[in-house]
Formats: sequence, structure tokens, C-alpha cells
Amino acid sequence: MCKIAFFCIPAQGHTNPTLEVVRELIARGCEVRYYSYDALREKIEAAGAEFVSCDRYDSRQSLSPADAGRVSRDLAFSTKLLVDMTLAMDGALCGEMREWGPACIVADSMAPWGKLAALKLGIPFVSSTTTFAFNRYSAKIMKSGPGALLRTLAQTGRANRSVRRLREQGYPVKNALALISNDNQTETIVYTSREFQPCAETFSDRYTFVGPSVPPAPLPALRPGGRNLYISLGTVLNDNGPFYRNCVQALSEGGFHTVLSVGDRFDPASLGPLPENFRAERSVEQLRVLEQTDVFLTHCGMNSVNEALYCGVPLVLFPQTAEQGGVARRVSEMGAGVYLKENSAPAIRAAVEEVLTHPEYRERARKLGEGFRCCGGARLAAEKILAAAAK
Ligand code: UDP
Repeated sequence: MCKIAFFCIPAQGHTNPTLEVVRELIARGCEVRYYSYDALREKIEAAGAEFVSCDRYDSRQSLSPADAGRVSRDLAFSTKLLVDMTLAMDGALCGEMREWGPACIVADSMAPWGKLAALKLGIPFVSSTTTFAFNRYSAKIMKSGPGALLRTLAQTGRANRSVRRLREQGYPVKNALALISNDNQTETIVYTSREFQPCAETFSDRYTFVGPSVPPAPLPALRPGGRNLYISLGTVLNDNGPFYRNCVQALSEGGFHTVLSVGDRFDPASLGPLPENFRAERSVEQLRVLEQTDVFLTHCGMNSVNEALYCGVPLVLFPQTAEQGGVARRVSEMGAGVYLKENSAPAIRAAVEEVLTHPEYRERARKLGEGFRCCGGARLAAEKILAAAAK
């Protein structure tokens, strides 16, 4: 029986696309062991994999708020944490891998401990990339300003010194950048289409663009004149009461039917009594809701955008981070959505009406969605992993 080990970070957005791939591998008779975090255990086990908890190795799980804030700004600090995690797992993980003998390791691009174990032990490796594929060309779409660039350059020396600790333990890794980026030699799965990927021509054919990894479903029927809205800021930076209140104010009248997903950091009851046509939930089955949606007001998480386009749903773009800003820019370039100009009720209403009254946004979204459906999805991802395992 073919054994495959998965590694991921504690994020729904990075885990969800892999679950369909796990199901596909198991359906083909593979045994899957999934190294992840307790918060994701239930989902991973429901997909049929054996779950292994990594929480205890990861010092990022217990950072002070000040240090948590440094992670995204300070390359040297974030590299040190990744190196610490890899070395904390080193003994146990390498022992387990030698004993269990997986034919292939599949690791999220942000979980370098999986990739490093594969390199150290000579196990075939496939990278799982739930964001856009990243290289120096596509990185430009994130448009980090000159300040951020200079800060990063200044921290590179210290970050590379942390990486030296890995080399001392037998991990063949060149520098800090190599921890989280792939070269054109690495077998890489990307969960979007070549068409949607910025600078796609700069990636080698080792990159397989499989499209959104979701259970296959037909493209929902068009509903001319439909005014069904869905709003979500995803599962991470979603504690935004003022925004949710503006949505209620903007969309309670006007013939809309709105579903708002607020996540588990915000109490939907605190929005007060809502009109019948406005539903607020902590979490919804997003794909099912998208199948009935005419406009999605989104934070532009890569999965949310992929899932919406898969369903042919045009977008109102409200990015909260640089990475989401890159995704929003690409949607806007492709003509499948408009930016929310500011967090206010009139701006929300205006952006939603703009998308509803111009069918070209929906047409562009449907065209991208049709492209996604031809990419191969979880089936192709599983075939790529099995091909790597057979080498
Ligand atoms: N999601 C969901 N129900 C919700 C809100 C989100 O199932 O009510 C899922 C959504 O389908 C997507 C993931 O959570 O797969 C969010 O990932 P994304 O990359 O969009 O954003 P993040 O949460 O990582 O910011």
C-alpha cells in the first residue's frame, strides 16, 4: 500500500484544499498520515487520514501578542521560529518517517518542516501551494512598499544565520528564502488555474495548476435579477464588528437576501435583531452558499476567491492583508469584481449595485470558473503525488 505523509499549518485556508486530495488518495488505496494541529483534527480524520498533532512542537502557538505581531513583519524572527519548530520535531519525526517509510511527503509551502524532512531523508517531495505560486515575478503583485523591502533585506543576514542551525543537523537548505519558496525544479501543486495565476509563464511545468480542490459540482444556473449576497472575511482576521454593522445597514433594504459569516471571534447576536432577509452565522458551508449567491463581498482569501469563481460568482473586494491585496488585484485585472472603496454602508451598497447591474462581472467570473473546472482538481493533484511517489 502506498503511504503518503501530509504536513500543514494551523489554517483552514491551507488545509481545506488538501482534504479532497486526501480523500482521492485514500479512494485509490493509499494510506495517508497527516501532520497538523489539534484545531483541524476532526476535518482531517473525517477525510480518512491518520492525524498526528504538531501543536507541542510549535512555539508560535503560545506567543505573546507583541511577538505574534512580529511574525509577519520580521523575517529574522519568523525564520527563527520555523527553524525552532523543525529542530523540535527533528528526532521524533525523522524516526517516524524512517520507520513508517512514506513513498512521498506533501507539505504546505508554509510548513517547511515537511519539505526539510523529505530533503534530509531523501523522500520524494511535492509542495502544496494554496496561495498564488510565488517567485520574484509573481511577488510583485503583492506590491510591498520600499520600506518593507528594505526591512526584509536588512533582516536577511540574521535569518540566514538561523538557517545555519538546520544545516548543522543535516538539513540541506541554502538560505532563509529557500525555506518557504520553491524553485522551478520542485514538484508543486497550485490550487488555481494557469489563467488566474499572475506571471504564469515564469513557472516551469513542474508546477501543476489543478484549480480549486472542491467536491465536483455543476456550474450553478444563472438567476437573472437575483439579489442573493454572501459576505465573509474568512477564518482569521474576521473580528470586525464595525464592518458587519455597516453591512446590515447597507443591505437590510433593497430586496437583498444576505448571508453573513462572522467566524468564531465575533458574536452574531451582538448585531441585534436582524431583518428576515439578513442571516448572520458563525460559519456556513461556503460552497453550498456560493451556489446560491449573486455577489460575494470577500476579504479575498485565496480559497474564498477560488471557490467563488468556481461557482461563477462575481466579487466585491475588501482585502485585509498584503497577500489578499494581491489576490484582489488579480480579480480586478481579470474583470471579475470591484473594490469596496471604504468601510461604510453607502460604499458597500454602491459596490454591490455596481456588480449586480453590470453583467460583465458575472460573465468574467463564469468564464474563469469554467476554466477552473477543466484543470483536473483533486484527481490531478492525487495523480501528481502518486507519480512522484513512484519515482
Ligand atoms: N469557510 C467556510 N465557512 C465559512 C467561512 C469560510 O467553510 O463560514 C472556508 C472557505 O470555504 C475557505 C476557508 O474557510 O475554504 C477560508 O480560506 P481563505 O483562504 O479564503 O481565507 P482565510 O480564512 O485563510 O483568511
